[in-house]
Amino acid sequence: MLSIIQTGSLFIISGPSGSGKGTVVKALAAASPEFALSVSVTTRKKRESEVHGVHYFFINEDQFITLRDTDRLLEHASFIGNLYGTPRSYVDEQIQEGKTVLLEIEVNGALQVKSRYPDAVLIFLIPPDFDELNRRLADRGTEDSETVRARMVRAREEVALIDKYDYLIINDKIENAVSDIKMIAHAEKLKTTKRVDFEAGFYNNNNQASAL
Ligand code: 5GP
Repeated sequence: MLSIIQTGSLFIISGPSGSGKGTVVKALAAASPEFALSVSVTTRKKRESEVHGVHYFFINEDQFITLRDTDRLLEHASFIGNLYGTPRSYVDEQIQEGKTVLLEIEVNGALQVKSRYPDAVLIFLIPPDFDELNRRLADRGTEDSETVRARMVRAREEVALIDKYDYLIINDKIENAVSDIKMIAHAEKLKTTKRVDFEAGFYNNNNQASAL
């Protein structure tokens, strides 16, 4: 017998730095309350344009280790010398509420989540080509040239793992990428496992429970 454990979904959006994934997830969260955007913790230095609690929770390494060692991170990874992690409690709460939770995280973290939650949907976002990626990174002007080079090397390593992902979206236009992800979220909601509680004999008809 099958029963529903959770009604929400976990969407992981990965892609090289400069692929536009940050813009895409923010646009999704702004477009509909069905999406809940998880805010990660990081030991990376805050950029001038960033706001604590909005873009990240900026914490020090000791605080990060405490969160990790008390199992309060759903996943964590190191990326070019800094630590990043997803707070577990927010994701759990939002999934319970039936939301599509968006995690914008790198590939190692994505694979950790997939191994624990096989239902997680893995989406890889890439820009039309690598020259474009280089240009977007350079235009962003938030990193020195050595960091840009390290991010380009890392980008090639990440792209090599595309086959572990469920979907590949080429981000030539933000609005197209947003609409593609909305369609995936809609299809996900129609899955029998998200709609039918076989034990209780109920199905989920857009938030209303109906007897089978
Ligand atoms: P950035 O320093 O550019 O903000 O992020 C660097 C990389 O870390 C990006 O690929 C971003 O998606 C990823 N990242 C951000 N938050 C998390 C997280 O909580 N966990 C993991 N594994 N990666 C993250």
